[in-house]
Amino acid sequence: MTSILNADLHCHSVVSDGTLTPEDLAARAKANGVELWALTDHDEIGGQHRAAAAAQAQGMAYLTGTEISVTFADTTVHIVGLGFDPDDARLAQGLATTRGGRGERAQEMAAQLAQVGIQGAYEGALQFVGNPALISRTHFARFLVETGVCKDTSEVFRKFLTEGKPGYVPHRWASLSDAVRWITQAGGMAVIAHPARYKFSANEEFALFSEFKQHGGRAVEVVTGSHSAAEYVTYAAMAEEFGLAASRGSDFHSPDESHTDLGTLPLLPGALTPVWELLADRILR
Ligand code: AMP
Ligand code: MN
Ligand code: MN
Ligand code: MN
Repeated sequence: MTSILNADLHCHSVVSDGTLTPEDLAARAKANGVELWALTDHDEIGGQHRAAAAAQAQGMAYLTGTEISVTFADTTVHIVGLGFDPDDARLAQGLATTRGGRGERAQEMAAQLAQVGIQGAYEGALQFVGNPALISRTHFARFLVETGVCKDTSEVFRKFLTEGKPGYVPHRWASLSDAVRWITQAGGMAVIAHPARYKFSANEEFALFSEFKQHGGRAVEVVTGSHSAAEYVTYAAMAEEFGLAASRGSDFHSPDESHTDLGTLPLLPGALTPVWELLADRILR
């Protein structure tokens, strides 16, 4: 297996903040030519058995996946896990703990929105939630679009729900070391998700990559829906500098909201080691 493979190892279903079921995502990935797929719901692995079965029904290879919310240097960082045992109890417990504060956080978000005249946001967001344990900012964004407060989700995240704007509630997620350990102990590999999104200084980014590597992290997303073409080049160089493998994933959430569809990004640059080469024995067929 080489980098010449249409692998899409990052997307979301109704089990977190996507709008499609695992089965509909599998069909869409297959139709778009994806050859190796992973569903990576935020802080959740409840869709993994369905996704694996749906991939198999489509004749598409599958890696188990999740995307863990982490707090590093006072910033929310996402760590993708791939190829773990979906029945690992310690991973399930770690994710349950990470999800734990979401309900209260959502209530506080709604209270802030009420202060700027937007009533009923908690109940409104809940209408978009597929999994009661996983209420996220995305569900609030859908409510604010549906009620006409904003024209699309990108306007929502410019005006609300982000630092300094109404509806932003800082939250302490998992630690980097815990997230990497939960994934690794369950037989999987940890991957830094969309590194260009974090707006870190060079020193903070160096610290993230070094500490991630020290904790046993193995790969970084190079080609993702969150990166520009120039950022593919930047993070390909970072992968080489830190001896990390590379991953590729659309981060697809919804046909109506996502600008990058499953399986449509450029392939990984040839010189990198694809993370799926290291996970060959974890691929389900
Ligand atoms: P949460 O885990 O509740 O903090 O929600 C984070 C989710 O909000 C991300 O996974 C994205 O789906 C969504 N999100 C965050 N920032 C943006 C943005 N600028 N534009 C669109 N979606 C965003
Ligand atoms: Mn999301
Ligand atoms: Mn993410
Ligand atoms: Mn994601």
